[in-house]
Amino acid sequence: MDQARYVIIGNSIAAIHAIEGIRELDRDGSIVVISDEKAHVYSRPLISYYLGQKVDEARMSYRAPTFYEENRVQTFLGKKAIRLDTKAKQIILDDKTRIRYEKLLLATGGAPFVPDIPGKGLEGVFHFTTIEDARCLKRYITDHPVQKALVLGGGLIGLKATEALIALNLRVSIVEIADRILSATFDQTASRIIEKALGDIGCPIMTGNTVKEFLKGPDRRISAAILKDDTKIDCDLAIMAIGVRPRLDLVQGTNIKANRGILVDRQLQTSVKDIFAAGDVVESYDMTLHTHRPVAILPNASRQGRIAGQNMAGGNRTYEGCLAMNSVELAGIPTISVGLTDPSVLADAERKKRIEVLESIEEEDAQYKKVALENNRIIGVILIGKIDRAGIYTGLIKDKVDISPFKDHLLKDDFGLLSLPRAYRKHLVTGQGIEV
Ligand SMILES: Cc1cc2nc3c(=O)[nH]c(=O)nc-3n(C[C@H](O)[C@H](O)[C@H](O)COP(=O)(O)OP(=O)(O)OC[C@H]3O[C@@H](n4cnc5c(N)ncnc54)[C@H](O)[C@@H]3O)c2cc1C
Repeated sequence: MDQARYVIIGNSIAAIHAIEGIRELDRDGSIVVISDEKAHVYSRPLISYYLGQKVDEARMSYRAPTFYEENRVQTFLGKKAIRLDTKAKQIILDDKTRIRYEKLLLATGGAPFVPDIPGKGLEGVFHFTTIEDARCLKRYITDHPVQKALVLGGGLIGLKATEALIALNLRVSIVEIADRILSATFDQTASRIIEKALGDIGCPIMTGNTVKEFLKGPDRRISAAILKDDTKIDCDLAIMAIGVRPRLDLVQGTNIKANRGILVDRQLQTSVKDIFAAGDVVESYDMTLHTHRPVAILPNASRQGRIAGQNMAGGNRTYEGCLAMNSVELAGIPTISVGLTDPSVLADAERKKRIEVLESIEEEDAQYKKVALENNRIIGVILIGKIDRAGIYTGLIKDKVDISPFKDHLLKDDFGLLSLPRAYRKHLVTGQGIEV
């Protein structure tokens, strides 16, 4: 039987930062990493740029090829962990290998939600979460006469896929069940601006709708999709991007507590001693929504991974929570949303009343700035068009700065570091600075 002081399941963002966190405190303890993906660690957000031919595979590496060797990590790549025995402190892999651990990190991320749509197994119907998905899509587009694509899901992943397909000169239609795209991160105005911009470049968006069946053509590949309202959309390719859910299969049947994601304490330890969890698989504390929920973004996975790694190696680091943030360029328009941007989603009516919104909208020019305030602190920002000051707003949110002395400047075009109080500017230079 193999054994290691540290075993990490997953080989992505949270895992890599955990290895680095461990090695900061323990140079020698043995580390094993297990992943069912065969690839060396890569940056998942870049798969749409890879598909759209903006980056090649070499540039997607998240760490140098020598990373595992330098950190003395034994890898089990292309192997799935199928069972966790928390009493015997063992992991069992799909090839029956057993690995004993002293400390375990679950960094298993998320898996695409797969709705039960007839025809979802047809050739030409894809998911879009791994580099292998992107490679398969690329091959399919090269090998077949693909002109029209359908993207099911108007969230971040669906829109990133759309952007890549448009870059490959395909005609793309988006089908979204909600009444607007990016409804989880944008407000009505921001969604409307991007929907119009996509429409202007020939990308129709069907909201309040979904696919009820994919149809097979004479060549056995996908040829069309039938929507809930019976509209037929011809397509040579479809991507299902309905959402990603924390991968909880390993914790089911164990005494590790989970809700929508794995529950962890502030040291990122699960309800079982010596088992930690980090990244997309956990429920994180959302600092502006004041609730625990899965927050599937890279900066959160990297921060949690590092803290979990350090704590596994005997450290005592605390995870305070995260700020939801998304940045994506759509139809040539850069966008960013940070924190709580749409107070209407709040159930707490008293809190809703406390939130003040400042906005500047130039819809025709696809320019939009929105700042949400609570007790004179910024809790959320949407920027469409010009996003260069995003780092400053993000810093003000994280540091909970009282903006009353410069509130009138918040939406001005020249709002910048010089608008901030001198003491805070100094903190930015001498302190941790701003991280976006
Ligand atoms: C297309 C796309 C675009 C994105 N764009 C952005 C963006 O612009 N900005 C941003 O902040 N975030 C973005 N994200 C989200 C970001 O990629 C994730 O937050 C980040 O990758 C999470 O890292 P993680 O280590 O928690 O998990 P993951 O990256 O999901 O990795 C988990 C790994 O664990 C493996 N695994 C799971 N279970 C097992 C098992 N039982 N046995 C073995 N291996 C297992 C999985 O195969 C996977 O390799 C994007 C995601 C996608 C899919």
